[in-house]
Amino acid sequence: MYLKSLELSGFKSFAKKSSLSFTTPITGVVGPNGSGKSNIAEAFRFVLGEQSIKSLRGKRGEDMIWNGGGDGSVGTGTGRANRASVKLTFDNSRKLFTGIDFDEVNIERVVHRDNNNEYLLNGSQVRLKDVIEMLAGAHIGATGHQIISQGEADRILSASIRERREMIEDALGLKIFQWKKLESIRKLERTEENMERVASLRREIAPHLKFLKKQVEKVEKTEEMRLELVVLYKDYFTHEDIYIRTEKERMTREIFEPKKELAELDKELERAKKILTDSKNKDKKSDEVIVLEGKLAETRADKDTIGRELGRIEGEISANKRAIEKEESRLKNEESRTVYLRDVEEVLRTVESFGVIEDAKKLFGEVISVLKRFIASHRSNTGSALIGDMDQEVKKLSKERDSLESKLFSLSEIESKYVHGYAELKQMIEKEKDTNRDAEKDVFRIIARQNEVRNVVSNLDTALNSIVHDEEAFKRELGEAGIIAGREAVTFSEVGPHEDSASENARKLQADRRRQIEKIKIRLEDSGAIGGTEVINEYRETEERDTFLARELEDLEKAKKELLALIAELDVRIDIEFKTGILKINTEFQNFFSLMFGGGKAELSVVKEMRHRRKSDMEDLGEALRSDLPEDSVEEGPEGLEVNVSLPRKKVRGLMMLSGGERALTSIALLFAVSQVNPPPFIILDETDAALDEANSKKYGDMIESLSKHSQLILITHNRETMSRAGILYGVTMGSDGASKLLSIQFEDAVRVAK
Ligand code: ATP
Repeated sequence: MYLKSLELSGFKSFAKKSSLSFTTPITGVVGPNGSGKSNIAEAFRFVLGEQSIKSLRGKRGEDMIWNGGGDGSVGTGTGRANRASVKLTFDNSRKLFTGIDFDEVNIERVVHRDNNNEYLLNGSQVRLKDVIEMLAGAHIGATGHQIISQGEADRILSASIRERREMIEDALGLKIFQWKKLESIRKLERTEENMERVASLRREIAPHLKFLKKQVEKVEKTEEMRLELVVLYKDYFTHEDIYIRTEKERMTREIFEPKKELAELDKELERAKKILTDSKNKDKKSDEVIVLEGKLAETRADKDTIGRELGRIEGEISANKRAIEKEESRLKNEESRTVYLRDVEEVLRTVESFGVIEDAKKLFGEVISVLKRFIASHRSNTGSALIGDMDQEVKKLSKERDSLESKLFSLSEIESKYVHGYAELKQMIEKEKDTNRDAEKDVFRIIARQNEVRNVVSNLDTALNSIVHDEEAFKRELGEAGIIAGREAVTFSEVGPHEDSASENARKLQADRRRQIEKIKIRLEDSGAIGGTEVINEYRETEERDTFLARELEDLEKAKKELLALIAELDVRIDIEFKTGILKINTEFQNFFSLMFGGGKAELSVVKEMRHRRKSDMEDLGEALRSDLPEDSVEEGPEGLEVNVSLPRKKVRGLMMLSGGERALTSIALLFAVSQVNPPPFIILDETDAALDEANSKKYGDMIESLSKHSQLILITHNRETMSRAGILYGVTMGSDGASKLLSIQFEDAVRVAK
């Protein structure tokens, strides 16, 4: 036994908490009409998750909740409830619900006035889906194939062959496979939708991917070129760097000496020029020489004059002395001697002709006066007076001579001074002349040398300038290379100076490298794919996405295959189980039917639903298409189940021919047969026995007992026979407050209450 108890609280007419315990295989529920018995059957449907409020005899969820009642008389009314709840407790010690470890499992459903539903499994809130899945696993369907409501027994007979098939499938426990199949089909649909979505995404990105791929190829080519350029640049820069440094260093070194020499030459030139400037003073010295020469000549002339005067005086003195001697001797002999006056005057004239020099002038004045006196004395004196005069004269002349001699001496001294001075000056001039000549020579030499050295310096300067230009260009190229080919292009190792770096060959090689660089640069610029990392990234991302989508598509394809296989498998399983189930049901159906009718034949047969199509119904197809169709056609539909019965001793066949009671018996026989083949844990039958006469009630009672061996039965009944088979009986009554009351009663009471 699986069912333990049912607890209703605020559910429909069960205002107060009421509960039923199911301790025996058959439980009977009895009570007068309208007392609330069917509400108990509905409570089962409700708690098992029935979603159709209509099948619970309500319009809204709210209708499930105790709505208050009473006949209006004071004290009979009971306020309406805010919630309805039904709790069904199962014994799970035999693991009716696989996967749930508890020995007791209770399911509770609560509905609130706001139509909010709650489902609880052992007190924990769960989803409806969880409840349904759990129940389906235990062969308890929410559709309630095991709950036959009042007047519903007939349903299996009145249903269409397709509905019937569904009912039987549900009863056979195939619903779970149907659900699985349905779920798989839905999954398949979703999978196919996803596949289409993924495929369309792939189609969408395909042209972009193709475009990006081309771009990336371009970028890669560009990158190749860039790397090539990097290598070339490195090589070029290394050489250029060596060249510039070497040359700069060399020229700086080479220009140092000539520059120094130039500076020295400048100084030398300065010096030499100064000498030449200074030599202009030599004219002054020449003037001095001339003056000195003049003075010397004058001095010498003076000296000559004085010499001559001296000679004359000496002559006069000796003449006087001789005259004196002569006079003395004349005196002795001739007392006197005649002096020619003209001679004396001659002397005088001679003496007078002198007279430029101041000193001599004075001297000569005296000489002249002496001579005048002499002449006078000669004109007047005679004899010894003459001698005396002559003596006087001699004395006077001697004096003059002495003075002249001293003058001559001093003149000689002056002369020698002048001569000395002159010689010195001359020598100086000569010496200066030499120095000037040297200076002049120096100036020429220096200027010549300066020109030479300037040439050298200028050449070196030009070369240095050119190197500086090269260096500037080199720096520009570095900047440019950095931009075009990236930083690695400008990181090159500095190598020491190399003498060969400026050689013609080396420069030619550099020019070749330069040309090569230019060539690639142009190609690189032409490729127009600079800055390709973004493109590469985008390509990678897009490719990754495409690969991801492709993989997803593969996965979906796989899932689709698996689902198709599963669906096929389920189809096969459902088909097999259905057909074997039908065979089994037919055996039981035949048994129950024969039991009920004392013979006859009953069976279910699998048939195809036939769809009749009339040409006239297809107006919407259009004339052209319709003309191709056969007149009227019958089409095969899906499989269904037909009930074939033939009653014993009666010729009538088919369900249509059965009386109400026969119909009831047939449907009960079929329901029981189905329940026998695949017994559910419990079956609820709400007045299924209502139409049975006494004899058939007995047979019904027997069938119930055999059924109760496999399924727990809850029977809502007015039938005395049925009641007698129940192990426990519950009486339902309704008071003036409109609320149902539940009590466990004895058989005798039950018979009374049921009426
Ligand atoms: P019968 O033997 O005639 O089939 P029954 O015992 O099966 O009768 P039910 O049909 O179960 O009786 O009970 C119906 C009763 O429940 C009615 O009296 C109805 O007014 C009452 N009822 C139904 N829903 C509610 C509700 N939400 N609140 C109060 N009473 C309700």
